[in-house]
Amino acid sequence: MATSPNDAGDDVLDQFLSDRGHTVERIGWEQEYNKKQCPECGGLHDPSASTCTVCGWEPTR
Ligand SMILES: [Zn+2]
Repeated sequence: MATSPNDAGDDVLDQFLSDRGHTVERIGWEQEYNKKQCPECGGLHDPSASTCTVCGWEPTR
């Protein structure tokens, strides 16, 4: 084989990484009336809550 699979692999990897960079965003609380809503399980919490007491989720910083 005279092809160069490594070069092609790098291109694919670069594309993969740049795609991930756009899809990975900071995740925070959803706002539901005057409550915070966990984006993972949908549980409602007081505005003072810092982590979800239902599933243990916490906002990324
Ligand atoms: Zn939760």
